[in-house]
Amino acid sequence: MSKFLNDRYQSLCVYTPGEQPRDQVYVKLNTNESPFPAAPQVVAAIGEKELQDLRLYSDPTCKPLLEKLAQTYHVTPENVYVSNGSDDILNFAFMAFSGTPGRVIFPDITYGFYQVYADLYQIEAKKIPLSEDFSVDYRDYCHQDSMIVLANPNAQVGRALPRRQMEEIIATNPDHVVLVDEAYVDFGAESCVPLIQKYPNLLVVQTFSKSRSLAGARLGFAIGDQALIADLNRLKYSTNPYNINRLTMAAGVAALDAAAYYEANCRKIMAARDYAAQALEGLGFTVIPSQANFLFAAHPQVSGMDLYTELKRRGILVRHFEEPRIRNFNRITIGTMEQMQLLVGTISDILGGSL
Ligand SMILES: *Cc1c(COP(=O)(O)O)cnc(C)c1O
Repeated sequence: MSKFLNDRYQSLCVYTPGEQPRDQVYVKLNTNESPFPAAPQVVAAIGEKELQDLRLYSDPTCKPLLEKLAQTYHVTPENVYVSNGSDDILNFAFMAFSGTPGRVIFPDITYGFYQVYADLYQIEAKKIPLSEDFSVDYRDYCHQDSMIVLANPNAQVGRALPRRQMEEIIATNPDHVVLVDEAYVDFGAESCVPLIQKYPNLLVVQTFSKSRSLAGARLGFAIGDQALIADLNRLKYSTNPYNINRLTMAAGVAALDAAAYYEANCRKIMAARDYAAQALEGLGFTVIPSQANFLFAAHPQVSGMDLYTELKRRGILVRHFEEPRIRNFNRITIGTMEQMQLLVGTISDILGGSL
């Protein structure tokens, strides 16, 4: 840290992304990426011309992308905002909608970035513990006194609330923004997008990083009331108007045209998830029911850390968190069926071995 850094940033606890080791080739089941490549249309969309045109600024209005998203989600382009990854939208939402003094509510076990943004903007974070079985009790979030942020399906855990319970939360907090982070919604949960016409306090955030195989392109979007979207644009035009680069813009439009390809991939991932959940339960694991592209699992005989370490030694990366409540668990991204079979075989070997 230099002596020049402003005082208020000196004690920041930054977000720790999942590891990306380069020492060997791993089966990467630690950052919830898709095991499938981008759609052929996406690859074809980035050709010589787009590369030549990189000398020009990208379109700050992102018009083609907004129109395509609006068409896909049955809203108007004025209901849509796009950003350089959905983390960027979370950043703006914490900055913009947490009130003065800033307050926000989210579960104790959820996406780690929420706490980081709260710290960054000196927002008081009230963390509501998940139930014993790691579910969100929607009643805990009704009639609250500040902005609410809920990942649905919930990050790390994978459980999702049905839309009618989400609606209760949104309807009972009309004076506060309810941000629903739907990074994993395409793997079987109910989206809140159909509620945006009804609730001006609802902001739904999604990403191309998981179900659409574009984590490296950095593309996220928000859907909500026009006034909320205008607020996000106000911040964008005060920081970085060209927030989507030309290649990502082309990739995003093409990805929305490849819906059938990505839906088929999601079905494959859900089938591999069901297989892996059953197989792990068969090996004695507690597996939290997941509607996301990962499983959250713990074994009574092997600590979370030991399993993580042994899998890594054998070339499989999973995500381990050291928070006390979940340190016995690992979060395992769902890959291809072959990768899941390899995972289950390897774990079976570890459990039968001398660990
Ligand atoms: C992956 C993830 C994000 C971030 O997605 P990007 O669009 O890649 O920034 C946001 N929220 C949750 C819950 C996630 O799991």
